[in-house]
Amino acid sequence: MSIVRVALDAPLPRLFDYLAEDAVAADRGCRVAVPFGPGEKTGVILAVLATSDQPPEKLKPVRAVLRDMPPLPADWLALCEFCARYYQYPLGQVIAFALPPLLRRGKLPRPVKEKAIAAVPAPAVPPLLDEQAAAVAAIVAAADFQVFLLHGITGSGKTEVYLRAIAAVLADGGQALMLVPEIALTPQLEGRVAARFPNACIVSAHSGMADAARARGFLDGASGRADIVLGTRLSMFMPLPRLKLIVVDEEHDASFKQQDGLRYSARDVAVFRAKQLNIPIVLGSATPALESFHHATSGRYRLLELQRRAVAEALPSVATVDTRREKLLDGLSAALVAAIAARLERQEQSLVFLNRRGYAPVLACPSCGWISHCRRCAANLVVHLADRRMRCHHCGFEAAIPRGCPDCGNQDVQPFGRGTQRLETALQERFPEARVLRIDRDSANTPKKWQALLAAIHAGEADILVGTQMLAKGHDFPRLTLVGVVGADAALFAADFRAPERLFSQLMQVGGRSGRAALPGEVLIQTEYPDHPLYRALVHHDYAGFAANQLAERESAGFPPFAFQCLLRAESKTMEQSLAFLAQARAAAEPLAGTAVTLYDPVPMRLSRLMSLERAQLLVESASRPALQAFLAAWGETLYTLKAPRDLRWHLDVDPLEF
Ligand code: ADP
Ligand code: ZN
Ligand code: ZN
Repeated sequence: MSIVRVALDAPLPRLFDYLAEDAVAADRGCRVAVPFGPGEKTGVILAVLATSDQPPEKLKPVRAVLRDMPPLPADWLALCEFCARYYQYPLGQVIAFALPPLLRRGKLPRPVKEKAIAAVPAPAVPPLLDEQAAAVAAIVAAADFQVFLLHGITGSGKTEVYLRAIAAVLADGGQALMLVPEIALTPQLEGRVAARFPNACIVSAHSGMADAARARGFLDGASGRADIVLGTRLSMFMPLPRLKLIVVDEEHDASFKQQDGLRYSARDVAVFRAKQLNIPIVLGSATPALESFHHATSGRYRLLELQRRAVAEALPSVATVDTRREKLLDGLSAALVAAIAARLERQEQSLVFLNRRGYAPVLACPSCGWISHCRRCAANLVVHLADRRMRCHHCGFEAAIPRGCPDCGNQDVQPFGRGTQRLETALQERFPEARVLRIDRDSANTPKKWQALLAAIHAGEADILVGTQMLAKGHDFPRLTLVGVVGADAALFAADFRAPERLFSQLMQVGGRSGRAALPGEVLIQTEYPDHPLYRALVHHDYAGFAANQLAERESAGFPPFAFQCLLRAESKTMEQSLAFLAQARAAAEPLAGTAVTLYDPVPMRLSRLMSLERAQLLVESASRPALQAFLAAWGETLYTLKAPRDLRWHLDVDPLEF
């Protein structure tokens, strides 16, 4: 009689034993249908055993071992086990997440007829510049595990380096995995890869794909048919038997970190994966995450630098506009207005960057002090004048803009502050003859609208673009020669210690949009702090200086990468309950923490109420990652044994990015 130990999609940190008459050792990694509670679940067999720790009469027989696809390979299961351990998430739930939905449900995709690949004329491959050649040589020469940090500004030819390294891997019979932050924004990349490797089997993997296509891609990866996998963070969980190289483009991007369920960082898991398989990995960015840059300067990673743009063009000139002594009109300085006017005259494009959508962040009554609060969140309702609505950007709640103050009846309620819609209106009034186009998550709320907006910009149908960070990523607008930045100062003094890092990389990225063709670019940053080191570094295109400054501050404050953190978050109907649960968790942690781990006090989260749930968190920190991991291994188990009210939900977030 055989017993199978099964990982199931259940929120419990344990595996489940079942009887399976016909199971053999080779069934490890097979999916299996089992009875669970009143129903049935599909899980994955992690071990085939002769005995169980459970009494045999308590074990139920499996419904069926599913042998219709090859078992999931041992290295893939080990990857899931690592994630379960490192992120303190039940293994069964990790595996359920890592499997495409169709396979998770115990099904298989229908096979499709091979599409004949249209022969694309392969574009000429440019000879490499010296720095590129050195980078490619270093990567190609690495036979074992090694992390490369490829640091180069936008347009310096990083993608060309990836493509050359991938070419070497393919020539060697290997598979390559390339991660990008958002595949929806980078269809050009897919095109570029396909054009470069017309004979390779290229598989995409992202959450926007249909179930069947995603499952087919997974099976193509597992069978070794796929040569190149291109995808978002979840492509990290592709089984790839011949994997020889991992590339993480825009490695600093926050979207590599999943913010729910398995809260993993795809970049960090990628580094683990490379180590596990003993292969090289390339992390690329114009503004590396400070964690990565710290590793590169301290020698753990190897730094590869591309110092100049591949196509001979100057970097945009960056300057600050001191707004302390100037009365701004609609938030715009005279210098920025003049610069826009000059672009209009020359029929070039301008972009005004404001990372806040809506018309105004809040509606307020000057007579009684009423402001537009969300009923469900500790946040304000944002004014959307275009459709006369107020919306919560956290939970989606919306209401009509009231005619008068709901509290005192005053007819003169006013929008305060400025969002992209208000800026759009102001620019249109200022430049009535110009074509102003707004690009944010409201105007580009579907992929179709987004593509239409991009097409309009490329066709030269816009003179002035107003946009959020949506515009910052990966698009070349040949006639764009001016980027104006407004309202950025708030991030300098935000409570989140990562805010300056994010601002720097955003402004570098958005500034990089200007002057990419024959026309030189100019960036104007409106600020009341023109001498702030962050802006000085931007003016001098000095990432290294900015990073050194920030890292010194982080070190003296004891922040990552000089400390390792984990948050326990709890949410429930009342703040008392949430805090009480965390206090209980803290008491349970005390005997486990030792001297190397610091436990902080439970506190309400910054956004203390979201969708009518009161949220609190408890920070745990250590200067040693192994010490924190050892602590979490013990604490994680005990959390399941704590008493919690029915409506309370909790989770651990290891290496949290948001507080
Ligand atoms: P990045 O990924 O750093 O933004 P890319 O690899 O996309 O840079 O290169 C930017 C532009 O320069 C692209 O149009 C690319 O075709 C071109 N390019 C890259 N390397 C070379 C080279 N060695 N010679 C000529 N053009 C190059
Ligand atoms: Zn009022
Ligand atoms: Zn809300």
